[in-house]
Amino acid sequence: MVGLIEKLEREHTLSKEEYIALIKSRTPELSELLFEKARAVREHYYGKDVYIRGLIEFTNYCKNDCYYCGIRCKNRNAERYRLTKEQIMDCCKTGYEIGFRTFVLQGGEDPYFTNERMLDIIHSIKRQYPDCALTLSVGEKSREEYQSYFDAGADRYLLRHETANNEHYRLLHPDSLSPENRKRCLHDLKEIGFQTGCGFMVGSPYQTEEHLAEDMLFIKDLKPQMVGIGPFIPQHDTPFRDFPQGSLELTLFMLGLLRLTLPNVLLPSTTALGTIHPKGRELGILAGANVVMPNLSPKDVRSKYLLYDNKICTGDEAAECKNCLQMRVRSIGYDIAVSRGDCKKE
Ligand code: SAM
Repeated sequence: MVGLIEKLEREHTLSKEEYIALIKSRTPELSELLFEKARAVREHYYGKDVYIRGLIEFTNYCKNDCYYCGIRCKNRNAERYRLTKEQIMDCCKTGYEIGFRTFVLQGGEDPYFTNERMLDIIHSIKRQYPDCALTLSVGEKSREEYQSYFDAGADRYLLRHETANNEHYRLLHPDSLSPENRKRCLHDLKEIGFQTGCGFMVGSPYQTEEHLAEDMLFIKDLKPQMVGIGPFIPQHDTPFRDFPQGSLELTLFMLGLLRLTLPNVLLPSTTALGTIHPKGRELGILAGANVVMPNLSPKDVRSKYLLYDNKICTGDEAAECKNCLQMRVRSIGYDIAVSRGDCKKE
């Protein structure tokens, strides 16, 4: 297995069977070796810098019914909210003042935010903060809509593919959502010129090592600039409430594999990772991640964007969140950078 890690480090890819073998036969020693190599690669491109993204969860209304997600439309217990444009601009102002140079607008697929409203928000943010990158994460849209967001100045787009395996995708979603359309969106986003992010949950219901290997090959082929992964965490009002959560240890292993597969990729150490372990985000960075995404949403709506149970940081102010992460990142010898934090060239 050590030979496979060395091969991945050298060639940045493995066959499906090789990825499966590595994932299946991982041990603590093998993981440590993987993380050492992953850290060396991330430091080659990014030094000790950790990039921060100010996450603005601007609506938890969603027309979709993904079986794993706490804000799915059929969850009647979700307390719904949407931010006004003024509230969104206030989040950016606070964020800018405390050092954020990337804003991420994330939300459910909320029909209230028509193309016209989205373009107005994008224009306003880019006019006010021309030195900042704007990332959108608002789900599946037509190519024309994506193009209009890009033309209005949006720089990046996050859309996790969720799973590269079509049968597995159908087990996680209702019939109204298709793996073909999800992948179409990602290809459109890349072709349009967005810095694009895909990703998946680790330990989602019915996931096998084979699916994870297919995820790695899909990602290798798509060549996204960002990959967001985190453990699946059950939410009590979803059909998947009784499934076990994804493990810390497998999530970290997948982060290490991703770093060696796409050496210069932007790889967040996610809030979900911080939710399943008190030091989850620090361990994620030590496994090869180089981005953290603290929350900039107003305090009064934080506790309503509940994709999964026990989400952390729902009671903190933006500045508290940033300071806490700064301290955590420094405690492991890294530092937060004040910059847009673009993907470095290979
Ligand atoms: N609606 C947009 C979309 O579909 O891309 C963005 C918001 S969506 C809630 C963001 C991500 O949350 C999803 O891509 C999914 O991977 C993750 N997520 C949802 N439910 C989760 C859960 N129970 N555990 C872990 N991650 C979850």
